[in-house]
Amino acid sequence: RIYNELIELRGNIRVFCRCRPLNSDEVTRGCSSVVEINRSQETELQFVPSEKERKAFKFDHVFGPEDDQDVVFSETVPVVRSVMDGFNVCIFAYGQTGTGKTFTMEGVPENRGVNYRALEELFRMSEGRSTSVAYMFSVSILEVYNEKIRDLLDESNDQSKRLDVKQSADGTQEVPGLVDAPIYNIDGVWEKLKFGARNRSVGSTNANELSSRSHSLVRVTVRSEHLVTGQRTRSHMWLVDLAGSERLAKTGVEGDRLKESQFINKSLSALGDVISALSSKNSHIPYRNSKLTHLLQSSLGGDCKTLMFVQISPSSADSGETLCSLNFASRVR
Ligand code: ADP
Ligand code: MG
Repeated sequence: RIYNELIELRGNIRVFCRCRPLNSDEVTRGCSSVVEINRSQETELQFVPSEKERKAFKFDHVFGPEDDQDVVFSETVPVVRSVMDGFNVCIFAYGQTGTGKTFTMEGVPENRGVNYRALEELFRMSEGRSTSVAYMFSVSILEVYNEKIRDLLDESNDQSKRLDVKQSADGTQEVPGLVDAPIYNIDGVWEKLKFGARNRSVGSTNANELSSRSHSLVRVTVRSEHLVTGQRTRSHMWLVDLAGSERLAKTGVEGDRLKESQFINKSLSALGDVISALSSKNSHIPYRNSKLTHLLQSSLGGDCKTLMFVQISPSSADSGETLCSLNFASRVR
């Protein structure tokens, strides 16, 4: 409970910025870093695109190139823990392709990210809690691509299966037919997450390129039942690796690519609109403007906890996109 009180004090929406290291290719090409992070000032970064320009941006936390997955998760864990107290949670990774969204959320086998660590934490917590409450965990893995929802845990891989968001009797949003796979312990969770990730949009010659144009979502459902009183709770934690936020070159984009980029822009700006409406306490929250925000409606707003990772590249070659991402972050905070 202490953690939740802390979150309450700091509001329900938090924005973290994570800047990846310059990679060897960028170093070879002679790119320099346009991002300055003062290690003693963990909530601010300086964007320095040229000698004459300098702009400061504030966040709830800034992670630099030397901050590893452990450090990132240690700041994320309070939000994860709140799902065990019945709060709905959304954790997003936003940013240009190649800035580390998937690294932060999925991670790599020897250096796992938020998704796996969050599930590990839930099991750890359930074991440490009162024996009079039984917890049950399950996961769904889905993709939103061109405003269509696809079930990445559906083994039949039936391309004609159409999933949609429906409002249920209690006012929450449901996706009828979506596989909700029970998980009984942490063993096998990594394989399940990998299975879902492998299933991301097929039909492309370049899976990595395509994955950058779809949103990938892991939904963890936490159910609890009090063994004496019979009281039940259910809450969701959504872990979202968003489509790349980069603007496609204006010229020469047509057909499918044009449609895709319009859908991506629509859903990312709809998400920005929803979060900024929530943080400015507007009464009208425009959830219905995209499949993504409609899907997440019950887990955004109210007393739900939202955490957005704004991922950036330090490279001088990416400074235009980096500025766009930093500006997006300022809008939602
Ligand atoms: P995105 O999902 O945003 O397109 P990726 O997660 O695929 O980006 O990251 C691009 C590359 O950079 C990957 O090879 C990834 O392992 C590496 N990378 C990203 N962030 C970090 C980081 N903080 N430290 C080390 N390597 C990183
Ligand atoms: Mg990715």
